[in-house]
Amino acid sequence: MSDFHGFVRGLGSIEVICGSMFSGKSEELIRRVRRAQIARQRVQVFKPQLDDRYRRDQIVSHSDMSVPAEMVAKAEEILAHVADRTEVVAIDEIQFFGRDVADVCEKLANLGKRVIVAGLDQDYLGRPFEPVPQLLAVAEYVTKTLAVCARCGAPANRSQRLIASDERIVVGAEGKYEARCRRCFEPDAPRQIAMPLDETDAFSSTR
Ligand SMILES: [Zn+2]
Repeated sequence: MSDFHGFVRGLGSIEVICGSMFSGKSEELIRRVRRAQIARQRVQVFKPQLDDRYRRDQIVSHSDMSVPAEMVAKAEEILAHVADRTEVVAIDEIQFFGRDVADVCEKLANLGKRVIVAGLDQDYLGRPFEPVPQLLAVAEYVTKTLAVCARCGAPANRSQRLIASDERIVVGAEGKYEARCRRCFEPDAPRQIAMPLDETDAFSSTR
């Protein structure tokens, strides 16, 4: 996979890395950030502040790669935090910022910045998860990452929720979700498989 795609310094662009949980989105984001840093580009990394009890000012992938990140509560805060001289803006867990973040990414790209975002493209029912559909439409570069189906081993692009909840956002990873392929995905299943919510890993495992 090419890193810089057709990236022209100062032109501005949006790159979307999206897929299900456990598909390596954060890892790919971190890889691109590291390469930009090696190329001595000025990089800023952001992640949503979902729960400050588990405040961690870095992005960590499932394979334990990490980069420092600034935590922000709202999409507009990203605009306020980006320095003029910053060339690359990376945002992880983009789905937690809501629709407004698509405009923020457009503004940053129009200012000439390379914007790299990573996030879930579908929610736990397999529905398009805003703002990723909006970002996919306006992005120059799109990377879909696939996980491995926990049931059958096929390439997987769905996030199977294993706990009972009708909330669109339930933060967590292992134990609460697993990757499933199209065939093994059961969007109606969570209500039957009730498991106690364990809040202790609520933020640390959102990666
Ligand atoms: Zn499967």
